[in-house]
Amino acid sequence: MIKSSHPHRKPGYELNGVALKPETLMMGYGYKPKLSEGALKCPIFQTSTFVFNTAEDGKEFFSIAYGKKENTEKKELGLIYSRINNPDLEILEDRLAVWDDADMSAVFPSGMAAITTMMLEFLRPGDTLLFSQPLYGGTHHFIEKVLIQYGIKAYGIRGGCNYNEIKKIIEENKMQETLAMIYLESPANPTNELIDIEAFAEIAKYFSKPNKKIITAVDNTFLGPVFQQPIKHGADLVLYSATKFIGGHSDLIAGVCSGEKNLMIRVKTLRTFLGSVPDAWTSWLMLRSLETLKIRMKTQCENAKKVTSFLCTHPRVEKVYYPSLHQEGSEQHDIYKRHCQDSGSMISFDVKGGEKEAFKFLNSLKVFHLAVSLGGTESLAEHPYTMTHTDVPDDEKKLYHLTDKMVRLSIGIEDADDLIRDLTQALS
Ligand SMILES: *Cc1c(COP(=O)(O)O)cnc(C)c1O
Repeated sequence: MIKSSHPHRKPGYELNGVALKPETLMMGYGYKPKLSEGALKCPIFQTSTFVFNTAEDGKEFFSIAYGKKENTEKKELGLIYSRINNPDLEILEDRLAVWDDADMSAVFPSGMAAITTMMLEFLRPGDTLLFSQPLYGGTHHFIEKVLIQYGIKAYGIRGGCNYNEIKKIIEENKMQETLAMIYLESPANPTNELIDIEAFAEIAKYFSKPNKKIITAVDNTFLGPVFQQPIKHGADLVLYSATKFIGGHSDLIAGVCSGEKNLMIRVKTLRTFLGSVPDAWTSWLMLRSLETLKIRMKTQCENAKKVTSFLCTHPRVEKVYYPSLHQEGSEQHDIYKRHCQDSGSMISFDVKGGEKEAFKFLNSLKVFHLAVSLGGTESLAEHPYTMTHTDVPDDEKKLYHLTDKMVRLSIGIEDADDLIRDLTQALS
């Protein structure tokens, strides 16, 4: 899965020429205890600025940071100021890049900061942005209410479209000349519809011109980085709300953007000037979270499968939406097999009835907490129709089968039988 000798990896990435697995690298990669009094764990560098050894060093660091001097000797950029770099942030970014086999990662103080900074860097007045629907509400708002004021047109498309359908939509709506970015979110929230990232990336290549590359960016919050790696399927950039699985404990807000070096240098440069940089404490918390990322996501997924099996046979449940449930031979099943290593821990289901029955169920839960957000160690339940997706126009809701009988669950690492007992009593 992981190439050995990645061009942008630091010492300690390989053992005898073979790349170590991300699970192994999360414990020490990118950190040198010698530079921190031998501390086994990376300390929290709670400082705004860094002392230069000499004025000459300061001059050199700045000229590299501002791209005035080509960094021919591939020197590491010296520490300057915590809006530009900080050890906790840099080590965190090195480790995040490993999961997606990206050249570089950039961390942000929220998922929205990652998404908006990335979009602002690659979109200009007159450009068109093609995006999959439904999208996370905040992202949708930014595209439809903010970007539009800067002369950036946006076109929403059902995520489940195949190559020919996407191509036809682009041609019929005459987007060939202005298309600058394809932005995807897979699986879609809250319906778990899977998107053929490979097909969209092929479309981006097909319509790209030598002087204008169409960027494919994927919000991988729901399955990644453990169960889906969009870059392997042709995406240029992958984004996360790290508030969710990467942070994983519902105690921080953060975001990530990862990808190829030349694109990431642009994203990081804009980040420096927008000032959307996380602090050392949040970065440190995320370093700690990354050590358990895989075991958390695996346990959450195992629990979710048990919960799904239970829901599928319950007489008060009408339909369950979960990535591994698609019928063999269907397009969705084919995407699942090509893109996903497993099905994650986000489950949506329709109760029999409507809002009244859904609310009764939600109000009866005792182990699950009634809250939005997802991906933490504890299980959460919410009502997308009136909560996270209240802003989505009614006709769109209909199109995606998002009705008032739908409940969304985020499954945590509790005992699965306890979760099922809670669902049993709340459904009764
Ligand atoms: C939560 C979320 C976001 C926004 O992230 P914040 O960290 O809340 O800013 C973006 N995309 C998806 C899929 C999310 O679930």
